[in-house]
Amino acid sequence: HSKRGGGDGYQYFSIKMTEVALRRLTLENNLRKAIERGEFALHYQPIFDVAEGRFLGAEALLRWNSGELGHISPAEFIVLAEETGLIISIGEWVLRQACQQAVSWLNQGVLLSRMAVNVSGVQFLHKDFAALVETILAETGLKSSILELELTETALISDEYGILDILTSLKHIGVQLAIDDFGMGYSSLSRLKNFPIDRLKIDRSFVCSIEQDSGDAAIAIAIIAMAESMAMKVTAEGVETAGQLAFLKSKRCHEIQGYFLSRPLPAGQAGEFLMKQRYEN
Ligand code: C2E
Ligand code: MG
Ligand code: MG
Ligand code: MG
Repeated sequence: HSKRGGGDGYQYFSIKMTEVALRRLTLENNLRKAIERGEFALHYQPIFDVAEGRFLGAEALLRWNSGELGHISPAEFIVLAEETGLIISIGEWVLRQACQQAVSWLNQGVLLSRMAVNVSGVQFLHKDFAALVETILAETGLKSSILELELTETALISDEYGILDILTSLKHIGVQLAIDDFGMGYSSLSRLKNFPIDRLKIDRSFVCSIEQDSGDAAIAIAIIAMAESMAMKVTAEGVETAGQLAFLKSKRCHEIQGYFLSRPLPAGQAGEFLMKQRYEN
């Protein structure tokens, strides 16, 4: 063994590779069974309407507590779900669960005017996505205008799939459409203007340094101005301080999400949080 010299480096490298591959395989095998094992849950982050001075709804965020691996962050498993195609069934579960929750809150008297759901590009481009949305709305009885689908810029970049057709079908159904993490991708404005988008969500990376970095502040201001001129609304995400909130309010950003106002909460707590709106107004 000791005589192999340089071979050790290769061996170490290949052990590392094996570890990475093994982790991936274990994750994938567990992800495949996560729905039937009931390991997924949605948390809900309240969304604050600046002009109204109240919380108007929530964004559904997927949580996975794997029996074998513990809590895994969406940053890790969503990509894997996309690569393996599992996002199709997971995304459907998320959509149905979020719509059911919205109906249940409305039945309890929560003033809920929005349920925002993240949609992966893979899911969005998969056949009959608009039909699926229509089916789930019919099944759950949720009014279409309450559902908002959050798409990323990257999902809207490729041309070949008739993206405008899908967006148009979705607008026909009556759901709201938002672009998530706006400013991070490379969507051209000339292309965007042809899309029936209702809202831009300013990426957290601009919001976090909005008070220190004049460049990031300028980007946020430009996004708000651009949205205004294109008759879209703007939500800032990742607001963590009173200073950031004050800045965004002063720039007439319409809606705010972030730890400063509320972290994403399990359904029960989120329902109580939103329910308070009924009495405070
Ligand atoms: P996103 O849709 O941009 O969601 C916002 C993320 O920022 C969430 O992370 C949220 O917990 C976090 N966040 C909210 N406020 C703050 C804040 O003030 N400070 C900081 N540091 N973070 C904040 P999370 O839940 O880990 O989700 C990460 C991403 O995973 C999401 O980004 C979204 O792209 C994706 N994701 C989550 N759930 C789903 C889902 O059901 N389907 C799909 N396709 N993607 C999902
Ligand atoms: Mg989102
Ligand atoms: Mg985002
Ligand atoms: Mg994000």
